[in-house]
Formats: sequence, C-alpha cells, structure tokens
Amino acid sequence: MKWLGKLSAGFIIIGAIMSVGGAPFSIWIPFIGLSMLLIGIIMLFYWSTKNFIWKCSKCNNTFEITWQQNLLGMNMGVNDKLLYCPYCKDKIECKGKKKV
Ligand SMILES: [Zn+2]
Repeated sequence: MKWLGKLSAGFIIIGAIMSVGGAPFSIWIPFIGLSMLLIGIIMLFYWSTKNFIWKCSKCNNTFEITWQQNLLGMNMGVNDKLLYCPYCKDKIECKGKKKV
C-alpha cells in the first residue's frame, strides 16, 4: 500500500492549494479543497497506522498499534511515541519503524 501514502500527500497538497487560492473563482472550490484536505489527512493517518511497527525502548519487542493509539499516543519526536507496550504492560517511549 505504498501508493496510499503518496496519494494522501497529493490530496493534502491539492486540497490546501484549493482551499487557500480557490475562493476568487468559486465559493465551492475552498469547500472541495477542505474536504480533500480532510480525506488526505484521514488516509495518511490510516496509512501510517498500517505501515509502521513500534519497538519498545525497554523490552525491545515490536508490536502494531491501532488507529486510536496512533491518534492518542503522545509524540516524543520524529517517529517517537509514548505508547502502551503489551509486553511491559506500561506506557513506554517507542520507536516507529516503517514496514518493509
Ligand atoms: Zn516493552
């Protein structure tokens, strides 16, 4: 599902351009732009949930997360998230790694 990441990025960029620059042409263009932006964000979110595995910094086990955890997990930096580790049964800082 490599294409989904690129497609969602495209939606976000086009949506942003349309919502910022579309108003002088038609009142509907910013609306369409905003919906595209929203769809792009949801797709990117779905994609990032499905394509990343997380490695616990304490026990070194890897696990997948749900989109709820992706949403609620506190970001500690680029690809760093505070997540509930199912092995440690605690909230641990985890490193995200793209699936290959
Ligand atoms: Zn752990």
